[in-house]
Amino acid sequence: MRLSKYFLPTLKENPADAQIASHRLMLRAGMIRQAASGIYSWLPMGFKVLRKLENIVHEEQIRAGHNPMLMPTLQSADLWRESGRYDDYGKEMLRITDRHGRDMLYGPTNEELITDIFRDSVQSHKDLPLTLYHIQWKFRDEVRPRFGVMRGREFFMKDGYNFDVDKPSAMHAYNRHLVSYLRTYERMGLKAIPMRADSGPIGGDDTHEFLVLADTGESEVFYDKNILDLHLGDRKIDYDDWDQCAGIMKEWTTPYARTDETHDEAKFNEIPEERRMSSRGIEVGQIFYFGTKYSDAMNAKVVNSDNKEVPVHMGSHGIGVSRLIGAIIEASHDDNGIIWPEAVTPFGVGIVNLKQGDDDTDGACEALYKSATALGLDPLYDDRKERAGAKFASMDLIGLPWRITVGPRGLKNGVVELTNRKSGESEEMTAELALEKLAKVYAGI
Ligand code: ATP
Ligand code: MG
Repeated sequence: MRLSKYFLPTLKENPADAQIASHRLMLRAGMIRQAASGIYSWLPMGFKVLRKLENIVHEEQIRAGHNPMLMPTLQSADLWRESGRYDDYGKEMLRITDRHGRDMLYGPTNEELITDIFRDSVQSHKDLPLTLYHIQWKFRDEVRPRFGVMRGREFFMKDGYNFDVDKPSAMHAYNRHLVSYLRTYERMGLKAIPMRADSGPIGGDDTHEFLVLADTGESEVFYDKNILDLHLGDRKIDYDDWDQCAGIMKEWTTPYARTDETHDEAKFNEIPEERRMSSRGIEVGQIFYFGTKYSDAMNAKVVNSDNKEVPVHMGSHGIGVSRLIGAIIEASHDDNGIIWPEAVTPFGVGIVNLKQGDDDTDGACEALYKSATALGLDPLYDDRKERAGAKFASMDLIGLPWRITVGPRGLKNGVVELTNRKSGESEEMTAELALEKLAKVYAGI
């Protein structure tokens, strides 16, 4: 993409109403624009990152054996009356009446709708286990929408639902989700720690929240420092292997990690003092096992292997896809702007032409832009007639992990400058070598 043709309305000044770095930087980098309180338009660069996160979530869900689908944003109130949640949910639910006077709602979550789909189509344990999920806009009329996409009213969420014949197989689904979520966050370049949580209005016995550590997080968290050393890395995972998934679950849930809702001071104090950590965290996902809560209320049954009708065991699992962008930026930025992890960066490399209009630098940049595109590096070429300082400031603000700077002085010696956004380190080398190096970096992603 050429910057001269791209819609990237960056702001020089800090927007007054943005209190935290990610909100400020998303507005300044021209990623989002507020449409109404807690509701945002996603401008091209914000949309590009959102799609990248969505793709990673899809890939990891499909890898775990889950079925992608799409349910509507608007739902009929009738199903929610069946589960009893139409009255329980309170003012967070946006209720709408259609022209025929029928009660509708903008879905805050989808347990009822999916249970209805399930009970109409599945009757036998032979069709289980089954996990269905979608990635769709949700609406929750939050009392205090704030921090940009972090606590919006309309937000993009992956929500999945598992159906199993009994508790042991539903617990495997729980463990499988935990593992697939760990992988998802790791791929995004994030450390998200599963913490035992409180089940809230969804109800149920087992639940873990995934938290990204950040000073601006809304939750207070307490954890054993050792948990920070755990990585899935490139270990091979067989999502049908109950023992492997349970083993990983145990590995991650043995070190103490809880939010303030479930914090147990006495247990926490059993950890050696130097490992006792407390800080703030951002909730980027949650998994639940809630047994037969919805299947009992909505009569969703299957015939088991003993030929007996039993209520199906369920769990639900969510990832805050739009909130994740805020969380990634909170975890990775500096005073000059965003620092994207390579896996989610909107563009692989920025090309800065220091002397736009000069035949030599223009020619070299065009050639570089073509080669980088051919290599799949998805370059963003700053071809505007701007001062070098302004071009560098824009690149730092939008935070592409790599920048190639092309100027007349370097070209005389046959070199360009390759700069890493995170370390700030620059190296001079031929354009070919710079591209080769970047191709290697992105090959592993
Ligand atoms: P919170 O405690 O932050 O209000 P929640 O526990 O009510 O969130 P869940 O029902 O667990 O939310 O939804 C799954 C995920 O969706 C959350 O982990 C979070 O990442 C994201 N999410 C929830 N509410 C919002 C919101 N208002 N804006 C953006 N993302 C949200
Ligand atoms: Mg939650």
